[in-house]
Parts: sequence; structure tokens; C-alpha cells
Amino acid sequence: MPAIVRITDNQRHLLARPMPDPALTGRCFCGAIRYRGGAALYPPTFCHCESCRRVAGAHVVAWITVSADSFAFTQGSPVEFNSSGRVFRSFCGRCGTPLTYRRDERPGQIDITQSTLDDAAKPAPVDHIYMEDALP
Ligand SMILES: [Zn+2]
Ligand SMILES: [Zn+2]
Repeated sequence: MPAIVRITDNQRHLLARPMPDPALTGRCFCGAIRYRGGAALYPPTFCHCESCRRVAGAHVVAWITVSADSFAFTQGSPVEFNSSGRVFRSFCGRCGTPLTYRRDERPGQIDITQSTLDDAAKPAPVDHIYMEDALP
């Protein structure tokens, strides 16, 4: 399993801009799991790394980052597993929807799969990372 290193975290600070949304809510496909989070800390990003692709069963995954303090599951409990190194990902144990990504080295933040937001259309992702892993 390849290690996941969000090497662009520093670069993403350069892209940071005020986000209008005061709060985010979302759910898995079947609705067993619901969550809420505070405003996005950065504009979202598309990740093409192999781990994200395989976990999601998708060519690319859009992530949105909120403060860990602001995030909570408001219904149900996801399954969380250690996907590599000190990285933990969660998903709905009933329908399998990937929900979150967190890393011990970045304890104050949690990433959410943007497609699971109740309003997933905004804010629009602004960058692509791990293009070296991207499928053609
Ligand atoms: Zn579900
Ligand atoms: Zn990734």
C-alpha cells in the first residue's frame, strides 16, 4: 500500500481564500450516516492518488477540508480503517460510501469526500493533486 503524503498542503494555503459557506452537511448514499462540518478551510481539490482511487472505486476523488473540531457525525457511525501509514479513512458500513480522510500528522483537519455533501456542487474544486498517479 503506497504511503499517502499530501505534499500540496503547503501549496493549498497559497490558494486559500475566504469561503462563503458557514457550514457543511452531508450523508452517505443510503443515509445511515450523516455529518456536519464547519466552513471549508481551503478550496476543494481533486486527488488522483492510487489510494483514493481504489478506496472510492473511482478515477478521481474530490476532497474538501474542514477543521477537525468542527466536524461530527450526526447520525450513525462509520467504519474507519488505517489505509496506510498514519492515515485513517471512514466509510458507511452499510452502503460503502467513502466519507472521510484524516492523518495523524494533520490532527486539526479532516477531509470529506465532496460528493457526499448535501450541496456537493459548491465550492468548485480548484486544483488536482497526485497527477503522477492519474489514470489516462
Ligand atoms: Zn450508507
Ligand atoms: Zn488521494
